[in-house]
Amino acid sequence: MELEKLPIVEFEAPVLEIITETPTTKTLVFNLDSVEFNFCPGQYVMLQVPYQGEVLKRAYSIANSPTKKGVLELTIKRTPNGRASVVLTEQVKVGDTFRIKGPYGKFVWLPEISKSIVLIGAGSGIVPLMCMLRYIRDKKLSDVNAILLYSNTHYEEIIYRQELEEMNGSNIKVVHTLTRSFPEGWKGYTGRINEEMIKREVGDLMNNLYYLCGPPSFVDNMNSILESLGVERERIKKEKYE
Ligand SMILES: Cc1cc2nc3c(=O)[nH]c(=O)nc-3n(C[C@H](O)[C@H](O)[C@H](O)COP(=O)(O)OP(=O)(O)OC[C@H]3O[C@@H](n4cnc5c(N)ncnc54)[C@H](O)[C@@H]3O)c2cc1C
Repeated sequence: MELEKLPIVEFEAPVLEIITETPTTKTLVFNLDSVEFNFCPGQYVMLQVPYQGEVLKRAYSIANSPTKKGVLELTIKRTPNGRASVVLTEQVKVGDTFRIKGPYGKFVWLPEISKSIVLIGAGSGIVPLMCMLRYIRDKKLSDVNAILLYSNTHYEEIIYRQELEEMNGSNIKVVHTLTRSFPEGWKGYTGRINEEMIKREVGDLMNNLYYLCGPPSFVDNMNSILESLGVERERIKKEKYE
């Protein structure tokens, strides 16, 4: 797969399945049987969402690995008072059809880019990072080392919790932190991702490629921590969910 050669395509696709991920998050699985759509892990699409007579265009990262053919999975978290995200998480039904265009974005990981990656996400910022992890798992890339640091407000809001647990193993390490509440017996971290957490979990800081994704303030904050730890700018990739 070469990023420069991937064509941007526009198509209509029906919703095949709706998966409830958390109380505020759903995955829409689109049927892509009749579409030729290729993308790299980390990229996103633009989705057209009908809203009160208007059409809103919103960016959503691709959740499924490119190895999973015939479908496109988007995981959408409801934004308080948001428009498109409320339609997508509360009103969409199986069979509804959407106009989609993509792929877009340079927030991409492929094994030839780096064999050692640190993925840092908050909330729905997990989506493109999960795509990368699913790709590593499905292609059995045992020479790649990935560490995920994932921050959420509450345990119930951890997206893909079960699947992440199953991925945590030899070459994928999953580290959680909860910032607002945590269940009894919680074994992960509490509080925001900080310098100490990164140093302890990553170990050798300098030779990795870092992928940061989430709200702009989170990405900026993680970026300053990494820079203050001496990580070179060129080793930090960012995707801000503005
Ligand atoms: C590259 C990229 C990838 C993304 N991938 C994902 C993803 O995988 N999953 C995901 O869930 N999201 C993703 N997002 C975010 C997504 O694109 C939307 O921004 C998000 O779903 C909110 O859209 P909305 O229409 O619901 O919110 P909007 O209606 O646009 O509102 C956004 C915010 O503005 C506030 N607001 C709304 N109207 C007003 C107003 N009139 N005045 C002041 N404030 C107002 C709302 O309270 C809300 O907090 C991504 C964003 C980018 C840029």
